Amino acid sequence: MQTVAIVLRGQGDRRSTGDATVQVLTDLERWRRALRSSGLLALGAVLTLLIPIVHFFAPPVLLLTSVIVLVRRLGQRELLSSGGGPCPRCGERVDLEQAALAWPVETTCVHCRSGVRIERA
Ligand SMILES: [Zn+2]
Repeated sequence: MQTVAIVLRGQGDRRSTGDATVQVLTDLERWRRALRSSGLLALGAVLTLLIPIVHFFAPPVLLLTSVIVLVRRLGQRELLSSGGGPCPRCGERVDLEQAALAWPVETTCVHCRSGVRIERA
């Protein structure tokens, strides 16, 4: 886990600063996450082979999805754990939700409903 400084940008030139906790994944953690997710989808593909009619379309779709999930999860090098800062427009706190991290993060202030673009400082 590491804490990084972030800049919250609102509409116009309004901005404020905050911080976010980021989990940097090791190669082992990335492979573990990727194989767990795609493995569950592949298991679902095998199990749907037993269901009449469904076994015509569900297994190929689930197998294709498992490959896509595997590739996407392997590409995720950082996870956003928590963080936030004051809204550039109203000043109330904007919290970041746990998610795979791709800068910039787009979110909405729950107090004033304005869009907030969050970038690494
Ligand atoms: Zn706001």
